[in-house]
Amino acid sequence: MTFSGLDYQVLHMSNHSVFIHSNQIEEYKFNENHPFNQIRVTTTKDLLECTQLITPTDIVEPRMATDDELALFHDSAYIQAVKSASIGELSEETGINYGIGTEDTPIFPNMHEASARLVGGTLTAVDYVMSGKALHALHLGGGLHHGFKGKASGFCVYNDIAVAIKYLQQKYQLKVLYVDTDAHHGDGVQWAFYDDPTVCTLSIHETGRYLFPGTGNIYERGYGVGFGYSFNIPLDAFTEDDSFLDAYEQALTEIAAYFKPDIIITQNGADAHYHDPLTHLSCTMKLYEAIPKLAHKIAHQYCQGRWIAVGGGGYDVWRVVPRAWSMVWAEMVEQSSVYQKELPIEWINKWQSKAPVSLPTTWFDPSNLVKPIPRKAEINEKNSLTLSKALSVIRSV
Ligand SMILES: [Zn+2]
Ligand SMILES: [Zn+2]
Repeated sequence: MTFSGLDYQVLHMSNHSVFIHSNQIEEYKFNENHPFNQIRVTTTKDLLECTQLITPTDIVEPRMATDDELALFHDSAYIQAVKSASIGELSEETGINYGIGTEDTPIFPNMHEASARLVGGTLTAVDYVMSGKALHALHLGGGLHHGFKGKASGFCVYNDIAVAIKYLQQKYQLKVLYVDTDAHHGDGVQWAFYDDPTVCTLSIHETGRYLFPGTGNIYERGYGVGFGYSFNIPLDAFTEDDSFLDAYEQALTEIAAYFKPDIIITQNGADAHYHDPLTHLSCTMKLYEAIPKLAHKIAHQYCQGRWIAVGGGGYDVWRVVPRAWSMVWAEMVEQSSVYQKELPIEWINKWQSKAPVSLPTTWFDPSNLVKPIPRKAEINEKNSLTLSKALSVIRSV
């Protein structure tokens, strides 16, 4: 069989995904005891290499975001404060006003450069997808969804997602669907586009009743012309896979049909897992197989394939994050058949001595991982009700 140049390009493109990565990603590091640990990006990349799901030609070095690009979303005074903190020239008092130097977001050397590189990675993803050099792009160093315009929050200095959406809007005027499945509410991105009907945000998270950042209730639906373009599904603590997935699949399917996006950006925080030490959801790897699968389908159905995926939270950096994030890439390159095999022994041998827990040997968790709780039916029912309330705006039109 022969193909003309164009056919070949189409065939080639249909499968082309890029993995944005730099070894410098680990320089975004608060301190040794901080739960946000970018070693998870390195271990994920290594797992993908050991399973031969990634080759050097898939990997693209991120660029740095310029100050002008950061300023598409962030206040100049805030960028200046981060720069001063970066070189140890910001007073404690001023830092606190900008949310830096706190227990959650401590100051570290070269904080500005490390944070601007994470933003640059997500901008590189946008450049690849929008130029047609790739259909899908994954940047696991990004996903810092709590960053505000003029303030750091929840381990996030600059908000790579908000900057990337502003950049997309400025250069391409696209309708953006942002989907956030991190266990924490995607507050920074939501508030950035709260009054903007061209950016639709969907966040599914553990209820903010007892969990940071406390927002993300059903009634945060947008403001002014942006009303009806912000969706929140706060799930009860101890929610399991089936109920999370039911909410995710119904919400994403209906919202995509209603909004008809030009591009989809997914934030793939992996902290809804049972093992995650910071949250109280009870999900397993089954969830992390399903999340990118539907996002991928929606990207092809509505966006001609344009899909950018970023990382996010995930604090069991040994047992959970490498598998969960590898599944995002495996889905992008349509290699999920690899889950039938065991995890490569070379990966386990390489990292086991550094891990304080036993590394998993399979892609999925044992079926008895989550201990049965009597309240499960009640939790599922409550989540279904939350879902109907959250989608009532589009279900009534
Ligand atoms: Zn989170
Ligand atoms: Zn695809």
